[in-house]
Amino acid sequence: LFAGPVTFVKGVVAMSGLPPADRLEVCFAGRSNVGKSSLINALTGRKTLARASNTPGRTQEINYFALGETRYMTDLPGYGYAEAPVAVVKKWQELLKSYLAGRQTLRRAFVLIDARHGIKAVDEDILNLLDRSAVTFQTVLTKVDKINRAERDAVIAQVKGALTKHPAAYPEIVVTSSEKGEGLETLRAIIATLE
Ligand code: GDP
Repeated sequence: LFAGPVTFVKGVVAMSGLPPADRLEVCFAGRSNVGKSSLINALTGRKTLARASNTPGRTQEINYFALGETRYMTDLPGYGYAEAPVAVVKKWQELLKSYLAGRQTLRRAFVLIDARHGIKAVDEDILNLLDRSAVTFQTVLTKVDKINRAERDAVIAQVKGALTKHPAAYPEIVVTSSEKGEGLETLRAIIATLE
């Protein structure tokens, strides 16, 4: 799928643990339960590569995957847990800030948004952080199989409106369903052709 096998590299808990910045990188972010693990697994054709294991209180890691030899993909922990301990959230936010602002090879962030809900207040923190870090981000609607055509048009309009406030937003929205396979080829092609 990505000109080589997709492999798990490591989980990173501090900037010192990042692998060498020797290839282009993309990251995936989204609120917990948005369908991020499902999308990463569907995208890579690996059923259990990403696990929905970021339960509150656990060490929050940036999970690194190699897409063949020329790309890294990172999985950022889901946000939006009300019950995560303050100390865990703080440590994670510091790492996230350093990573987004300091990772030279990070070319694009994919921010996953549940197609049934659109962009919510809980998503704005990461969008603002991406703006401040000057990391171009692209919105990926998930679980689109759960809504009809009219709802799809409505959520796309809502997201487009919300994106106008974000200078780092890439205008094209990717519509996906991990369940039905919709949008996966589009997303793969975007990742494969980034320069
Ligand atoms: P994560 O917490 O963001 O990693 O979310 P998961 O990938 O674990 O998905 C959360 C829930 O949404 C699970 O019950 C999935 O089966 C479901 N889900 C994920 N993607 C899709 C999709 O494309 N379509 C449908 N119908 N359900 C999905």
